Order: sequence, then C-alpha cells, then structure tokens
Amino acid sequence: MDSQILHIHQQLTNKEISCAALVQEKLEALKPNTNNTVNSLLDNLALELAAKVDEKIAKGEPIGVLEGIPFGIKDVYMVQGTYTTASSNLLKNYKSAYTATAIQKLLDAGAIPIVKENCDSFGHGSSSENTIFGAVKNAINPELVGGGSSGGSAVNVAKDYTVFSIGGDTGGSIRQPAGYNHVYGLKPTYGRISRYGLMAYASSTDCVGPIAKTIEDIRIVLNVMSGKDAKDQTTYASEEIKAENISDYSNIKSVGYFKDFVESDAIDPKIKADFLAAIEKIKAKGITVKELDFFKSDILVSTYYTLAMAETASNLSRLDGSNYGNRIEDKNLKESYAITRSENFSEETKRRIVGGNQVLSQGFSDEIYLKSLALRDAISANFEKDFTEVDIILSPVTPSNPPKIGDSLKNPHAMYLSDAYTVGFSLGQLPTFTVPQGTNTGLQITAAKNNDELVLKFANFLKDTI
Ligand code: GLN
Repeated sequence: MDSQILHIHQQLTNKEISCAALVQEKLEALKPNTNNTVNSLLDNLALELAAKVDEKIAKGEPIGVLEGIPFGIKDVYMVQGTYTTASSNLLKNYKSAYTATAIQKLLDAGAIPIVKENCDSFGHGSSSENTIFGAVKNAINPELVGGGSSGGSAVNVAKDYTVFSIGGDTGGSIRQPAGYNHVYGLKPTYGRISRYGLMAYASSTDCVGPIAKTIEDIRIVLNVMSGKDAKDQTTYASEEIKAENISDYSNIKSVGYFKDFVESDAIDPKIKADFLAAIEKIKAKGITVKELDFFKSDILVSTYYTLAMAETASNLSRLDGSNYGNRIEDKNLKESYAITRSENFSEETKRRIVGGNQVLSQGFSDEIYLKSLALRDAISANFEKDFTEVDIILSPVTPSNPPKIGDSLKNPHAMYLSDAYTVGFSLGQLPTFTVPQGTNTGLQITAAKNNDELVLKFANFLKDTI
C-alpha cells in the first residue's frame, strides 16, 4: 500500500535516516521559497521536536506512525506562540495564544509542524493571490496560480516540501488547489474535525482537512484529527476508518454525475471529454452510472457567495484593531476602527465584508439572505434524494484549467464562477475528495454525510481503474 508516512516511519525506526536530518532537509527545501508557499518557517520548534524523536529512537522506544513526520499548516490555524497571519496585513504580527484542536491532535501524535503556509487572506479566494506574501506559484507550471485558498499547502505537498499539509475548505479551498497541483485533498463531512482554532471564514461550511500524495496518508491524518470536541459544538464522534475497509470496493454499485455540470457552457472541452471518458471506464467495471439533475452552477455560486459573504462579514467584525492585529489610531474610536479596517483588509476581503453586510441589512435580508438559506435547504434535499439512488457522486473538480497568475485578480466574478463544482457540496456539508486522476484538475468524489469511508474507498477504486 502506498504511503509516504508509513515509508518514512519505517526509515526512522530502522535508523536509515534521523528525524533531525529529515526535518532539516525539508526546511532547506522550503527556505528559498521558490513558489511563495512559506509565510513563516517553524524551524526552531521543528528541530527541537525532531531531536526528541531521535532520542526516543536511540533509546529503542517505539514511535507512533505520525511521530517525526514533517507537515505544513495553512496560515489560518492557531499554533501557540507562532505567527498566524491569515496572509493579511491586519494580522501580520499576530501570534497565536493557543493551539487549534486539529493541530494539537497531530502534535500529540508526534507529527512535526515545519511551516505556516501561504493562502488567500482569510480563505477569500480561489488562486492564493489575495495575500500579502506574494502569489503562490503552481507546482507543475509556475506561471499558473497555485489555486486557493489553500494554495501554499497543496504546492508544498506536490513539491515534497511537506509530507502532508493541513488546509481549510469552505467552498473548495482544499479540493481545488489539490486538483490544480495533482495531489489528494479531502474535505471531510462538516463537523467530523473540530474547527476550534481555525480562523473563521464562513462557519457553516468551514472544514479542516488534509492534503497528501496518497490515499493512505489522507486516511491516517484524517483519523487522528477527527472526533468530538467540547470546544466546537458542531463536531460529532466518528469511527476510525480502517485501512482494510477502504481497500475492498466491491460493494460500490452506483455512481451519479450532474448533467448540468457537464453540459455547462463554462466547461473546458478537454475536461469534459476526459470526465466522460472516466465515466466510461467506470461503467466498463460493471458500475451503474446515472445522470442526475441538479441546480445550475450560477445558482450554486450565488447561493454560496451570499451565505459565505454574510458569515464572513459577521466573523470579521471582531477584527477592528481593539483586540487583535495592527491598530491605526485616528481622532476617535469610530474613525480608528474605520481606518484600521480599510487600510489593513485586502480589496477582496473588503468586497466580501461590504457584500455580506448588504445582504444582511434591513430591506435586503428577506430578498437575498433568507432566499439563499431556503435554496441551501433545497440543495441539501436534492443531495438526500440523490443518495437514495446512487452511492457516489462524481464530478470534475473545476470547469477550467488553472489561470495564469494575475488573471483572477483582474476578474473576481470569473474567479467566483470557477468555484461552480465545489461550492454545492460545501453547502450540503458532504464529504468530498479530490483525486489527481481523470482530468487535468482531477476528479471529485462525494458521498452522503458521514460517509467519508466510502469516499476513500471509491478513490482506491479509481486509482485502480483510471
Ligand atoms: N474560493 C472560495 C471562496 O473564495 C472558497 C474558499 C475557501 O474554501 N476558503 O470563498
């Protein structure tokens, strides 16, 4: 079974490599920051932790599978004592006071954090260009964007700078950059992993998830991070996903895909042809494939952005310079808030705050915000019906290929539309997994809520089939 984590674990326990040397090698690879993936290196912390792992190995003590494995963290997670900037001017000098639950669980398992990774500021974007640290460059072609918002995390994995990285996905931010850089990226069922210590973008769809080069590595990291957390009331207890349970995929009988996605004018002809060719290969394996009806992409995108903007306007209202971040003083408190926020938030973030406050304001909220909530319910109901008919929904990850660096900034509306295939599954809070096969930006596997195991199982099927 392919697993970089298990492979390194073997090397460490057989004393073929030392943990210090491994961590040092990754830090050296990150240092030139060729693809603009690094917001800050955690070199002191990482080397200190690596020395402890080496000591344990030298004493002949057993180590866990994640012990000594270097990983990256999107710069929106709190890790006590480290900078957590959200790639923003406002929090450029902010240091976390505590550690996010998901990250703490990885630290408890002995994994070694080596880098806080570049991303779109506060998760706002699909290209990782909305950042004060410079546009993230794609791992395959550096003239193209790294994808977003977890672009730095996906590129680091693709380049082998980290063994795995922890991204955040609100409307596609793990799945899309994973697809753009040809690696695996999982958005688990909403609530499977605690959001405590993840800087909130849109709380009703924010998800923590892993990016890695193998399905097995995704499984290992997912299991460690999952679980109910008293600090996040939306979490639920889940069962461990066993390796043997996802290797036998014989019980998957039916797959559906959305006609509207494939027939949309926006889809790149090659992505469409490759997707349909993948469907044929699946059929050839005896799996029933059904065309499903769904909402048009523009309805999905507008529903998602209405709700995401409303939630982010509310979440970011706490960032006014009084408690956190760079404060700019002006003649009175109100003016100080205004100048702090207008000088320190990016254009994209301000667009979302203004949009969010607009859709929530009196006279507009019934027409826009409440209508989006009703549409969201209808989208969820549609999914529920679909999953009585099929086990899996398969789709391309994106309608088009990664844009050139600079293009998305010129046309935010086109950028929003590029999220057409990812945001619906976020609204449904479903487990959704990007695999680097089938099309140039991968395929997206979705199952019913809490069926994360099935999604990983189908990924193993696709790996053997396409
Ligand atoms: N691109 C989407 C947005 O800008 C999704 C971002 C995310 O998942 N954080 O909202």
